[in-house]
Amino acid sequence: MGRLAIVTGGTRGIGRQISLTLKNSGYKVVANYGGNDEAARKFTEETGIPSMKWDVGSYPACDAAIAKITAEHGPVEVVVNNAGITRDATLHRMSYQMWEEVIHTNLTSCFNMARLVIDSMRERGFGRIVNIGSINGQAGQYGQVNYAAAKSGIHGFTKALAQEGAAKNITVNAIAPGYVDTDMVRAVPPAVLEKIIAKIPVGRLGRADDIARVVMFLIADEADFITGSTISVNGGQHMY
Ligand code: NDP
Repeated sequence: MGRLAIVTGGTRGIGRQISLTLKNSGYKVVANYGGNDEAARKFTEETGIPSMKWDVGSYPACDAAIAKITAEHGPVEVVVNNAGITRDATLHRMSYQMWEEVIHTNLTSCFNMARLVIDSMRERGFGRIVNIGSINGQAGQYGQVNYAAAKSGIHGFTKALAQEGAAKNITVNAIAPGYVDTDMVRAVPPAVLEKIIAKIPVGRLGRADDIARVVMFLIADEADFITGSTISVNGGQHMY
């Protein structure tokens, strides 16, 4: 059996495709989700991949989930920190709650998950952590100080942890997707989306598979010389 991977937010959108791609490549996958039981039930029914609900922004919830997964499936060797939300508003309209929810779900989650698997990865001398950032963490985005700060934080987190993990064969990398055709992007008003697509040199939105392929590349055993990198997957929209 292949290595054990957890994909947070792994039941919908980009995460769904990451879960599937990993499973099809021989990984044992557990897909996490936050609240949409119906989507998770359908996902598990269609793919055979177990799904598990917990809030990645909560350290105790992550702790309990990882303990359960380890007891049932063995040590976690791959973590894809993909769960993310938006709560958009300009700063003068943004509540503290909108700030806090986004920081917890998108950034604190990376600490929670990495902290809880790092000891076992260090002991075993193997680990792969991939954090899903965003073009908006690189370039900033009107109406997203919370999201841009969280995603930008992911890029720093990645580079710092990569230095700590390197001697133990634990690689830590980030992917910064551009606009990918998922529920998150479908929530953007059509007129705004049209303007966004006009700015993408490749001329289309990204597909979840564009991201999943990069995750596969980064978690391979052979990718042990790639760490602390952020790979932009954005159709040329922002060259960082
Ligand atoms: P979706 O909204 O389609 O899916 C989000 C997933 O995250 C769902 O499975 C959701 O669970 C889960 N989730 C949300 N909150 C929590 C939580 N607190 N605990 C556990 N799971 C949670 O998002 P996308 O697929 O579009 O985005 C995936 C990642 O890619 C995000 O980090 C996003 O910021 C990033 N990204 C996306 C871009 C895009 O254009 N789509 C562009 C750049 C980055 P549930 O189903 O239960 O709600």
